[in-house]
Amino acid sequence: MKYICKNCGKLHETNTRLWRCECGGAFWLKREEKVRFTKADIKQNEYSMWRYEKAYPMKKADLAASFGEGLTPLVEETWDGMKVWFKNDSLMPTGSFKDRGVVMLVNSLASKGVTKITEDSSGNAGASVSAYAAKAGIECNVYVPASTSEGKVTQVIASGAKLHKIPGLRDRATEAAQSGAEGVYASHNWNPYFVEGVKSMAYEIWEQSGFTAPDNIVVPTGNGSIPCGLEQGFRELMESGEIDHMPRICGVQPENCNPIYRKFHGEADEFEASATIAEGIALKFSSHRDEVVEAVRRSEGTMVSVTEDEILQALKKIMSEEGLLYRTHFLRNFCRRDQPDQGWIHQAGSEDRHRHFRQRPEGK
Ligand SMILES: [Zn+2]
Repeated sequence: MKYICKNCGKLHETNTRLWRCECGGAFWLKREEKVRFTKADIKQNEYSMWRYEKAYPMKKADLAASFGEGLTPLVEETWDGMKVWFKNDSLMPTGSFKDRGVVMLVNSLASKGVTKITEDSSGNAGASVSAYAAKAGIECNVYVPASTSEGKVTQVIASGAKLHKIPGLRDRATEAAQSGAEGVYASHNWNPYFVEGVKSMAYEIWEQSGFTAPDNIVVPTGNGSIPCGLEQGFRELMESGEIDHMPRICGVQPENCNPIYRKFHGEADEFEASATIAEGIALKFSSHRDEVVEAVRRSEGTMVSVTEDEILQALKKIMSEEGLLYRTHFLRNFCRRDQPDQGWIHQAGSEDRHRHFRQRPEGK
């Protein structure tokens, strides 16, 4: 197994001390052989994302830290007269999908004998990395801007991680974490094991949909590990002959901070980002930007951008009517928009294809 930089194509050993390629590109895992996975490979008595262990670069038996992550509900709802399914990853051990990738990231570092790591997220990723590091016996140092409230980092503090408050803007906290002064930089945005874990979402959706692929998947997109992980997981299932089509992936970004949307639609790279309610996905720079654009294109999907008012209205509605929280609000928003993209799902999701999604094909 090697690390590969998709920007320049250079291969690196997996024990490299670099956290990204010399050219600035992100590392991805390059396995010796292509992943092949069939229904028969599912571990029937394992009720977590480790049911699909054969598809991963590591085994559950070798993990230093696991909280039984994964296998979250796929919840059916009706909206605009159409059936939609929400993948409720707010039920993950530390409260977000990040655990899928962090379990791979932290355990890969533990298996290399790493005893000290740094992270620069005060949000879900910081909470997740500090919890898994604590269980793996790894010292975790989390760098945040000095202005970060204690409340926001409650989970980080509770996990016993060392909190470093850095004066200035967020960039300063990131630079401090990347300096290596307090251990290996273990950023979920850069470590190549992270997406390998996020792809578990594709395997779960496949099984929970009666071993089929949905027509369309709408995902909130910050750095973009979810679109990349979904595309990778479904592509592995496609190449294994387990599904007959790839889902079209639609990434959603807030209009106030939408670098991947802009790249996808050929708009100028330079833009003024402003504050957004969707702060968890407000990244002006994505380490995976070009790879996300590529993954969305390969899936024949698209990128859309939503306003603050649309996010707020959808969030209110989903909290009052659906009882679902966290991230899912974008989905409703997107299809209700009066924009050129409107109808994207309606066109693709004809009744026939929805039936295909909902029913198990013959003999399966
Ligand atoms: Zn490179």
